[in-house]
Amino acid sequence: MNVLVVNCGSSTVKYQLFAMDGEEVYQVLAKGLVERIGIPGSRLEHKFGERVFSQERDASNHRIALEWIIETLTSGETRVLHSISQIEAVGHRVVHGGEKFTGSVLIDETVLRVIRECADLAPLHNPPNILGIEACQALMPRVPQVAVFDTAFHGTIPEYAYIYAIPYEYYEKYRIRRYGFHGTSHRYVAERAAKIMGRDLRELRLITCHMGSGVSFAAVKEGKSIDTSMGFTPLEGLVMGTRCGDLDPAIVFFLMEKEGLSAEEVEEILNKRSGVLGISGVSSDTRDIEDAAPSHHRSRLTLEIIAYRAKKYIGAYYAILGGLDALVFTAGIGENSSFIRYSICKGLEHLGIYIDEERNKARRKEAFLNEDRSPVKILMVPTNEELMIARDTWRIVEELR
Ligand code: ADP
Repeated sequence: MNVLVVNCGSSTVKYQLFAMDGEEVYQVLAKGLVERIGIPGSRLEHKFGERVFSQERDASNHRIALEWIIETLTSGETRVLHSISQIEAVGHRVVHGGEKFTGSVLIDETVLRVIRECADLAPLHNPPNILGIEACQALMPRVPQVAVFDTAFHGTIPEYAYIYAIPYEYYEKYRIRRYGFHGTSHRYVAERAAKIMGRDLRELRLITCHMGSGVSFAAVKEGKSIDTSMGFTPLEGLVMGTRCGDLDPAIVFFLMEKEGLSAEEVEEILNKRSGVLGISGVSSDTRDIEDAAPSHHRSRLTLEIIAYRAKKYIGAYYAILGGLDALVFTAGIGENSSFIRYSICKGLEHLGIYIDEERNKARRKEAFLNEDRSPVKILMVPTNEELMIARDTWRIVEELR
């Protein structure tokens, strides 16, 4: 079954075309992205086999971008399919599934309506996801489409962990609660970690650490997320590229008053000008911070804060999991930065976490990073959200046949 995986952002469409012969048996036929949608000079980059093709053209909306992608997949020298009719299913990444979706679903009118209703909760993310679904429905009206939600894996978090201590009626009225994000990534790396360890996921206590430009940790017990650091929005939790993470909410009102700022302006500061960028004043990219650190106090401080706050979450999740079998690192920082992984793990030997300096030099491949004597395993697992979406889509569409 040929499954097209689509991930629409506000000005981008990322795609991957999988030939699936089963959950574990698959081939990536092509992958790529269109960027600058709605901005002059849109650009497509398409990788197939060892080859890379790029093209510039104006794509004023997501539908035109998807037509461009399908044309690239089915014609000329970039062709990997004979025609659009060979696309047998489409899997969409959808950021917010609200409380309704705790797993992936076949998209019908009701599902689409609920995704639209969730747009209030994810105003930056769900609207482009909806545009992508509508465009694919228009271009491939008879092809089944599946939605895979970033929030779904965290649907198992218990009520006492997702309710905030504010008047309960705001939960009833606006569904203000912890949702959590990066769920597809946490689920993927948890499943891989169990396989690599040769253990059954249902008997493991894991902390999965997704550290990219957005950062979230999840406590995964017996294969289920029982808590995660992102909350009502992706702003809560650890220090991120430009997001502040945990904060005394009183700071918001203090800043509004002292600086004469509106709610939107403070929101912008906390989302776009805080985190690694805000503390260091150098960059939101931890590579730049690691380079600057030897001669720049605020860059060094940034790295110390990242590690310190990560340790606090590991301690908290160790407590609620009732122990720990493995710590799993993934995403841009988690897969690349030996320094940040080391500074997080160092000092946690009293929890049974012993990182091996030599093994920790590994990058972007599945590997154990712990010393042999370490009771807690430390793993690096490159994430693969697209594969997870392709698998869910394949499984749901197979069942229809
Ligand atoms: P996104 O969350 O946008 O999908 P990624 O998971 O690709 O992003 O993570 C991007 C981040 O990963 C960069 O901003 C950078 O901080 C970090 N990163 C990537 N490569 C390295 C590296 N070699 N060393 C340190 N940090 C890195």
